[in-house]
Parts: sequence; structure tokens; C-alpha cells
Amino acid sequence: MENPIRGHCHCQKIKFEITPPTEFCSHCHCESCRRTHGAAFVTWTSVPEAQLRITQGKELIKKYESSPGIFWMNCSHCMSPLFQTTHPAKGRIYITVASLIDKLDREPDSHVSFEEHVDWFKVNDGLPQYRDKASDRMN
Ligand SMILES: [Zn+2]
Ligand SMILES: [Zn+2]
Repeated sequence: MENPIRGHCHCQKIKFEITPPTEFCSHCHCESCRRTHGAAFVTWTSVPEAQLRITQGKELIKKYESSPGIFWMNCSHCMSPLFQTTHPAKGRIYITVASLIDKLDREPDSHVSFEEHVDWFKVNDGLPQYRDKASDRMN
């Protein structure tokens, strides 16, 4: 059994642990991720829901449903974006890698929804860049 990977929001009222193995890690450049985080892109990982344990502050998680079945979950106190669930990926939870404090069990391996990337941040890390979700490679 591997050690859990710990994370928390900025104010530390919400703490959580994910149990490896995670399922993927990539940088998402879609407009939804950018706007909900106020960032050029968002780095995500995911696990089956049973591998996420909220160890503190579960009652403080605020859900925003951006379209039917797509929920973004933030700390209602400090507003940090922590998790996302989508209807097509039922039973899976996405976690913002930036909210982790322990090292993830994998490195980011791709850029997804790269067709929506901003032109004011230059990506030159050599990782594959995909249109939409890891199907149609652009570089
Ligand atoms: Zn917080
Ligand atoms: Zn996205």
C-alpha cells in the first residue's frame, strides 16, 4: 500500500488525501478551466472517488454546476479550486495538482484542449499537445 498523497486548500480548512495510483496527469488549457481558476491552464490528476478521502472540512466544499452534471468544487472560505466531477466520467474525481503538498505518483505527460490555449503564455516543454482530450495531437 503506497502512502496517501495529501493536499489542502489555501486556508487549510479543507484537507484531503488521495490514494495512488492516480489515473493521469495533464495540463488543461480549456476556457472553462482557465476561467474557473484565473490561470493560463490547470494541471489535473484523477482517481476513482473511493481513492479520495476528505480528512477535514468536508462541509466547507462549495459546488458550482457549470452545466448539467459538471461540478467544480472549491473551498467556500478561501475559494481555492480543489476538485471537479463530470457526468461522462461518473465515479471519477479530478483533483487540482496545485493543491497537493506531497509529490504526485506521476509527472504531467501532455497538454489537452490545447486548441483553446492563450497566446500570452509560451509552452515549450516538449510534451504532446492535444486538441480536446488526448486524441488529436497538434504538435
Ligand atoms: Zn480554504
Ligand atoms: Zn479544462
